Amino acid sequence: MAEKFKCSFCRREYDDPVSRAQCEIKCDQAKKKEAESERKERLIKEQRARKHEINDMAEKLRGLYEAYYRDYSSEMWIEVPDLFSDFGLLKSLFM
Ligand SMILES: [Zn+2]
Repeated sequence: MAEKFKCSFCRREYDDPVSRAQCEIKCDQAKKKEAESERKERLIKEQRARKHEINDMAEKLRGLYEAYYRDYSSEMWIEVPDLFSDFGLLKSLFM
């Protein structure tokens, strides 16, 4: 029985080592391409989740800030966007 050469990725059998090597190169490239597309997909999902997290926190912050203003309206009113440009001020108000 003649020797067979198996691709170590897809296990396909060939009659000669060169054909096997060609298959391994092809399979390796396909595997790398798939890994890269999975990586990109994962990054997009992570980005969406983090945007969602920021939006949720901003909404919560806005609620807290508005409640604070309702209860202590004599305090200086600071626009929410300005809070992010002065983190020290934000901390002094809420932390
Ligand atoms: Zn293969």
